[in-house]
Amino acid sequence: MNINNKSKKQNTYDAIVIGSGISGGWAAMELCKKGLKTLLLERGRDVQHIKDYPTANLNPWDFEFRMQNTRKDGEEDPVQSKAYYAGDKHFYVRDKEHPYIQEKPFNWFRGYQVGGKSLLWGRQCYRLSDLDFEANFKENVGVDWPIRYKDLAPWYDYVESYIGVSGQKENLPHLPDGIFLPPMQLNCIENHLAASIKKNEQNRLLTIARVANLTKGWDNRGPCMNRNLCTRGCPFGGYFSSNSSTIPTAFATGSLTLRPFSIVTEIIYNDQLQKADGVRVIDTNTHETVEFFSKIIFVNASTIPTTSILLNSKSDRFPNGLGNDSGQLGHNLMDHHSSAGASGVHEGFLDSYYKGRRPCGFLIPRYRNLSEKEKNDFKRGYNIQGGGERQGYSDRINIGGFGKDFKTQLITPGNWTVWMAGWGECLPYFDNQISLDSEQKDQWGLPLVKIDFSFRDNENKMMKDIQETSLEMLENAGFKASSFNYNKPGGSTVHEMGTARMGLDVKTSILNRFNQIHSVKNVFVTDGSSMASSGCQNPSLTYMALTARACNFAFEKLKSGEL
Ligand SMILES: Cc1cc2nc3c(=O)[nH]c(=O)nc-3n(C[C@H](O)[C@H](O)[C@H](O)COP(=O)(O)OP(=O)(O)OC[C@H]3O[C@@H](n4cnc5c(N)ncnc54)[C@H](O)[C@@H]3O)c2cc1C
Ligand code: SF4
Repeated sequence: MNINNKSKKQNTYDAIVIGSGISGGWAAMELCKKGLKTLLLERGRDVQHIKDYPTANLNPWDFEFRMQNTRKDGEEDPVQSKAYYAGDKHFYVRDKEHPYIQEKPFNWFRGYQVGGKSLLWGRQCYRLSDLDFEANFKENVGVDWPIRYKDLAPWYDYVESYIGVSGQKENLPHLPDGIFLPPMQLNCIENHLAASIKKNEQNRLLTIARVANLTKGWDNRGPCMNRNLCTRGCPFGGYFSSNSSTIPTAFATGSLTLRPFSIVTEIIYNDQLQKADGVRVIDTNTHETVEFFSKIIFVNASTIPTTSILLNSKSDRFPNGLGNDSGQLGHNLMDHHSSAGASGVHEGFLDSYYKGRRPCGFLIPRYRNLSEKEKNDFKRGYNIQGGGERQGYSDRINIGGFGKDFKTQLITPGNWTVWMAGWGECLPYFDNQISLDSEQKDQWGLPLVKIDFSFRDNENKMMKDIQETSLEMLENAGFKASSFNYNKPGGSTVHEMGTARMGLDVKTSILNRFNQIHSVKNVFVTDGSSMASSGCQNPSLTYMALTARACNFAFEKLKSGEL
């Protein structure tokens, strides 16, 4: 190993944050705002807001294949090409350069660059509630969350007030309202469906999605222009990303050092002090190994990489990975399923259309197993996400004719359609897991990650229920509809969670109630790996709230000399 250990002093900071995506950007900003000299380590290249969004203003005809993926894309990126298109391909990794082992099919979508997947996310933001935080305990599944909604509520407020979330208050105990910017508007077919659901379906409602897209200017960003090109990067800063928001704010404090091209391979454990000294990094430009030191470390490389770093951090004290006294590290991997739903065509409202391309759909909040009295053949629940739009003109591509009627036919859009699918909770199963392969290595000599994950009986039964209830809602609203189940493998919803869970007991969990490794007090893990259950809500808002809360705690402990 070629270790470049300049002077230790030169490589020493107050805090180190690993990963600059949604949660790492937050950690860096919070720690910098508190005056801590913070090193933000990112394995990928730098992506600067506006300057590095090369496709942001391109038209469809500016792309070689009109934004379609080619056969070569499918061959070279069999996984990532299921998520990317020509407009945002540059923000996804190349599969060949970043191999992993799939014990069972698992779509592991990744964005390795400054900003991580914050550039690519769908921006849907929903709070968890006590229905979620208490479920493991009440049903004796996994471990009890060591926190409840009241612990996180102020931090949800705090995060929403900074990122800007547009949405409609609905006063539902199981989907708490937040601090919202004005909501986006439902279109006429969605309003029609909403009215039908209100009339026909007990305890269900349809509302506009809650999204981190700005319906008015916010903190020198936005407003959103309704272009729905967000995943290319937004020159207006119309949606929240690390690049447009947390990282510039962290830089403005003067306390941030950002180091891209820096793969953290392990956390260095000091047996005498019983805490971490720092991290070991491969510089992907120079191929040197460099060490950095700090008082506290935040691990935010996203669920699977974060847990891989911990698993790879072996010492005499922790032969099975840092903080892994419980043997739970790597286990209880979760991802939402989003394969099942229904779609339909409506023959009405042909005199109506919409303006702009709204960058979100609608939400039907969870309506199953809200009370313990309700009896379904599955545990937990799902929400429905979808959207209504008018079909285009493609069904008339080959028709012939001439004259006024022909022209009218050509410029009249098709019928209104609605597509909707359930985002469903996945239970934490011990043997849904990741591990490191001792034989196979990547180009940096690091062990390949092995992922062994499948949905089980509970998720499959839930998917069946999603198909039935969504079909029912569409048919009751006068749609000609059918249900579907794409049976997508794990990872497809890009909500990987678990593998280093929070809990009350060091014997059954990795992290305590402040996301601090039970047995290594100066290391904090605040991304999805910390989740003890998945809820059915899109999770990134929760990662940010957990991060802000843990940063505050870490700072207080530093101040009082306990760290
Ligand atoms: C198409 C799409 C739509 C989505 N929609 C939503 C949505 O609507 N709502 C929602 O809540 N979530 C959504 N998500 C998920 C969301 O993007 C993730 O939950 C979120 O980005 C996770 O944040 P993170 O900080 O854990 O990881 P990331 O944002 O992935 O950031 C992790 C960073 O760590 C870096 N890194 C990894 N390993 C190392 C290492 N060893 N050393 C140094 N750096 C490292 C990576 O390069 C990356 O920059 C979506 C994701 C995708 C792809
Ligand atoms: S829809 Fe809004 S947030 Fe998305 S790219 Fe356009 S302006 Fe930006």
